Order: sequence, then C-alpha cells, then structure tokens
Amino acid sequence: MKNIKLVFLDIDGVLNSFNSDNEHDFTPAGLFSKGILWLEEIYEKTEAQVVICSTWRGAYSINYFKGMFAAKGWFRPKIYGLTPKLSSAFRGSEVEAYIRNLYELDISVYSYVIFDDGSDYFDYQPLIHIDGQIGIQETHIDKALMMLGTENRKENREWKKLSLI
Ligand SMILES: [Mg+2]
Repeated sequence: MKNIKLVFLDIDGVLNSFNSDNEHDFTPAGLFSKGILWLEEIYEKTEAQVVICSTWRGAYSINYFKGMFAAKGWFRPKIYGLTPKLSSAFRGSEVEAYIRNLYELDISVYSYVIFDDGSDYFDYQPLIHIDGQIGIQETHIDKALMMLGTENRKENREWKKLSLI
C-alpha cells in the first residue's frame, strides 16, 4: 500500500484575505503568493500534496488550480485532488470520504492537515484554524510541518542512500 501525506486546503480566508495580493478580491489573480510558496515549502519538506476542499473546487478543475498556483510562483504545484461534494456539505465528512476512497485505491494517508478559516470538521481532524481576515501565516506552516512529520524528506532519503554504501 502506498503512503501519502496531504494538505486539505480551503481558499477564501486562507489564501484569499485582506493580506492577499489583491486584498480579498475573490479571484485567482488575488491569491496570496507567499501562502502558495509556503505550500511549496511544505511539499519540499514533507512531500505533502494539496487537496482542495474549498468551494472553489465547484468552479475549477485540478488543472486550472495548477495554473493558478503556477502563476503565483509554485511552478510545479502538487495538487492531488478535490474533495467530493456530499449532500451534507459538511467538510469534515467530505475529507473523510476522500481519505476512505483513497484507501479503496490502496493508498493510505500517513498524515494530513487541514487549513481552513471555518471549523466545519470533526473534533479529531487535524484542523489548523486560520483567521479569515488575516489568512495563512508562517506559524501555521510551522505547525503543519510538525503535524505532517518530515521523516520522508528528500534529504533524509539521500542520507539513507548514502548510508547504504
Ligand atoms: Mg474559507
């Protein structure tokens, strides 16, 4: 079974706030560049890929999201998927359903975090709650790195390879 790490990502109030590039204009062009580069940093350090759980997933495809992120400087963004839309519209259940579905495909989620300014999740889910006026901040990234774990960082793998010689 394949093991992966995921970052479930809300957009409004996270990458789109009064701190973002065009001050909360609700368009792809206005997204917070620094926040997107932080997501790249998380990927580089933990290999955690992004799953969009924002309502934006109803309007745009994975490829469109990739284009949006690339336009903000993460040139090869790792966007793994979009959560399903359940009739309950409860994001916690949508995240659960996404993880369960992966499991059926023989992919297990080793660790994950959720960046959201809402709290539409189960208590046991690893929500990193964000102030929707301010958006994502560096402290949230530090927290995510800790929660995701960095044991399969690329440099660790290199180190393992070297130690085998
Ligand atoms: Mg939001």
